[in-house]
Amino acid sequence: MIKLTAEQEQFRKAVARFVDSEVVPAAAAIDERAEFPTNLFRRLGALGYLGLRYPEAYGGAGADMVTYCLFAEELARGSLSVAAAAAMQSLMGTYFVYKYGSEELRQRYLVPALRGDLVATFALTEPNAGSDVAGITTRAERRGDRYVLRGTKTWVTSAPVADMLTVAAKTSDERGMKNIALFLLDRGAMRGITLGKAIDKMSVRASVTGEILLEDVEVPAEHLLGGETGGVEKIGGILSEIRVMTAAISVGLARAAYQAAVAYARERTAFGKPIAEHQAIGFKLADMLTSLHAAILVTYQAAAQLDAGGVITREAAMAKLFASETAVRITDEAARIFASYGLAMEYPVQRYFRDARFLLPGGGTSEILRVIIGRELDWDRGAAFA
Ligand SMILES: Cc1cc2nc3c(=O)[nH]c(=O)nc-3n(C[C@H](O)[C@H](O)[C@H](O)COP(=O)(O)OP(=O)(O)OC[C@H]3O[C@@H](n4cnc5c(N)ncnc54)[C@H](O)[C@@H]3O)c2cc1C
Repeated sequence: MIKLTAEQEQFRKAVARFVDSEVVPAAAAIDERAEFPTNLFRRLGALGYLGLRYPEAYGGAGADMVTYCLFAEELARGSLSVAAAAAMQSLMGTYFVYKYGSEELRQRYLVPALRGDLVATFALTEPNAGSDVAGITTRAERRGDRYVLRGTKTWVTSAPVADMLTVAAKTSDERGMKNIALFLLDRGAMRGITLGKAIDKMSVRASVTGEILLEDVEVPAEHLLGGETGGVEKIGGILSEIRVMTAAISVGLARAAYQAAVAYARERTAFGKPIAEHQAIGFKLADMLTSLHAAILVTYQAAAQLDAGGVITREAAMAKLFASETAVRITDEAARIFASYGLAMEYPVQRYFRDARFLLPGGGTSEILRVIIGRELDWDRGAAFA
C-alpha cells in the first residue's frame, strides 16, 4: 500500500490551495487565448515548484518522485496546459544541463530556469521523425572549438517563448541512433535559431507549441552535453521519470473531470430525479471512479519504485499507458454525462475532453508503450509489489 508521509500530504494540500486560488481561475482564459501562462509560470518558479527534483545547491528542493507527482497531479487538475509547461521546465528542459553540463553552464542556465526566469525546452521531434528517433536529420558538424547545427525541430513545447533549448542532433552521417548527441542552445545569444510554424492545436492550448528552425547555429563545444554519442541512452535515463510524471498529470486531469461529472450528475435532474440516480449514469460514475483509483495506484506505485532506486522501464510504461488512456476515457464519459453542456465553452468539461488527447503522444504513444511492455511479458507477481 502506498502511504504518503505527513510532509507529502502537507505539500499536496499546499499545492492544491495554490491551484484552487491561482490556476483554476485562470485556466479557461489562457486556454481560450492559447497564451503561455507567464505569470503563473513565474509564480511556480518563485514558489520553488520548478526545482523540486534538483538539489538545493541549484535552488532546488531535492524532492522525491512521489512528491513531484503530487505537484504534477494537483497542477493538472487545475490546468493541463500549465502542468505541461511546468513539466517541461522541471524535467526534460533542465535535466540534461544539470546531468551533463559544466558547473558554469549550470549556474548560467539551470539556476535561473529553476527560478522561472528562463524558459527551457527539449527538442527531439522533427517533421519526419517522431517515435522513430533514428530518423532525425538535424546535423551537428564540428568546426574547431564549436559545432554548427542545421535542421528543423517541431512540436517543441514552449518553443515560442523558450530561452534555452536542449536539442538532439546527429554528429555524423551514419544511419541509426548511436551518433545522436545533445546540445544546449541559447536563443538570445546564438544566431540562426528562428521560430517556424506555430502549431494551433485543440489540446493544452496554453502550453504553446511550435517549430524551431536551426540555420547554421554556432554552438560552443562546451554546450555539447555529455559527448558526441549516446544521446538516446541519456534521454533513456529520464524516460521513466517522464512517463510517471505523465501518468500523474493524467490522474490530475481525470480527477477534475470526474469531480465535475459527479457534481453535475447530482444537480441535473431528468425524469423527476438527479441523473446520478439513473443507473446508467451511476454505473458510468462507478466505472470512472474505479479506473481513477487504479490509475492513482499504478502511478504512485511506479513513483515509489523510482524513489527506491529501481529500474522500472516496464512499470513506468504501464503507468503512463494505463493512466493516460484512463484520462481519455474519463474525460469522454464526463462529457457524455454533461450531454449538450459537455460541448458548451461555458463549462470546463470540453477543455478536459480536448486536453486529454495531449496525454497520448507525449512520453511515447500507447502503441509504442505496448511494444515496450511487450518486451517483458514474463509474469512476475513480485514486480507489482517491489
Ligand atoms: C502537445 C505536444 C507537445 C510536444 N512536445 C514535444 C517537445 O517538447 N519536444 C519534442 O521533441 N517532442 C514533442 N512532442 C512530440 C511527441 O513526442 C511526438 O508527437 C511523439 O513522439 C509521436 O511522434 P509522431 O507524432 O511523429 O507520431 P509517429 O511516430 O509518426 O506515429 C504515428 C502513429 O504510428 C504509430 N507507430 C509508430 N511507430 C510504431 C511502431 N514501431 N509500432 C507501432 N506503432 C507505431 C504511433 O503510435 C502513432 O499512432 C510533443 C507532442 C505534442 C502533441
